Amino acid sequence: MRVRWQERFAETPGVLKDSAHQHTVVPVLDFEVGGSDFVTMAGPCSVETESQLMTTAEAVRRSGARILRGGAFKPRSSPYAFQGLGLEGLRMLARARERTGLAIVTEVMSECDVAMVADYADILQIGSRSMENYSLLAEAARSGRPILLKRGMVATVADLFVSAQVVLDNGNPDVILCERGIRTFETALRNTFDVAAIALIKEISHLPIIADPSHAAGVRELVPPLGRAAVAAGADGIIVEVHPDPDKAWSDGEQSLDFAGFDEMMTSLRPYLALRSVSQNQPADPQTLEAAR
Ligand code: PEP
Ligand code: MN
Repeated sequence: MRVRWQERFAETPGVLKDSAHQHTVVPVLDFEVGGSDFVTMAGPCSVETESQLMTTAEAVRRSGARILRGGAFKPRSSPYAFQGLGLEGLRMLARARERTGLAIVTEVMSECDVAMVADYADILQIGSRSMENYSLLAEAARSGRPILLKRGMVATVADLFVSAQVVLDNGNPDVILCERGIRTFETALRNTFDVAAIALIKEISHLPIIADPSHAAGVRELVPPLGRAAVAAGADGIIVEVHPDPDKAWSDGEQSLDFAGFDEMMTSLRPYLALRSVSQNQPADPQTLEAAR
């Protein structure tokens, strides 16, 4: 790696590539994040009802997702908005894993809830609003579960690395970074998708990086193109909001895809994934290669 990057990110050497750490692979159930497979996480913004969650889990699994997302504890812009089902939501997520075999990623917002959330989830999500809560990061790290660390909406890449370093320093090597859009002077969309951060992080960090095109865009029609951009930039996966009836969602309906929309997006990713395999020098599967032609 160029000295320039080592100097720029000197505070967080553990996050940078070095001779011993070129490529961290995070084990989740019987697969990996950051390995050769591109991993899709999908599901509702919030866990709402048993049938909402189960139908979504079945649909996203059929379309190729490996991990079910869904918030049981919701950080909301308004204190009066739906705050999540809490423990009941966690139980529903665990039942969805039993039924579909999908792994579970869900947010933990408070240090006090880490042990409970870790009992039900395969990956603990640290949300944008919590990225700089170091005591939460430390407690989550010590649970031993992999951590999905979302970039704060006003966090630089260096800030994101500091938070990742806190997890590493608390004895947990299994960190997955997530670019979910940042606030800039551009206000047409909910956030500005910093696709360059993905390319930069792939270049200089050994940690896996995934993209969240849903929160980056804020509107559902832009989720598929941002997902394709993420693949092209080298992301290890994506996390996407999907709902059976997005217009009736209890949170983030505007940016949620319905089942058909999600399936179409997954199909549209195929040629990009085929090129990704070629550029990683792996044999692409024939169906994906065909799609790239
Ligand atoms: C979410 O994933 O639903 C969420 C609240 O994301 P973020 O923390 O990126 O806003
Ligand atoms: Mn959301």
